[in-house]
Amino acid sequence: MARYNYTQAFNKLIQFATLFGYKVYVNSDNNYVLLDVQEIHISPNPIEIKVYYLLHELGHIIVDINQFHDDDYEYDIEVIAWLRGIDIANQLQIKLNIDKFNKLKQICLDSYKN
Ligand SMILES: [Zn+2]
Repeated sequence: MARYNYTQAFNKLIQFATLFGYKVYVNSDNNYVLLDVQEIHISPNPIEIKVYYLLHELGHIIVDINQFHDDDYEYDIEVIAWLRGIDIANQLQIKLNIDKFNKLKQICLDSYKN
């Protein structure tokens, strides 16, 4: 079986971000989205992991469009943004290793618990 092309998937997601008016910066110090200035920042990682982070940050855009409010818990928004990331992957037919994706999700969510 041919190796899945995550570089192609990553580029597809950058295009998807552009549809929402977002610019993606790929060599940032961390992974985050700035909703006010429409920027997504992705840090250096293996390309598959970069795809998963980008899916999550795009998930934040979708969550924001659905008008979650400041009184929603930050942790809940994080969980939903990861779930929306899966929706985006399905929509764009991007292959996920769900175990790997969930492991990354859990590491990130754990950092919000303290
Ligand atoms: Zn997040």
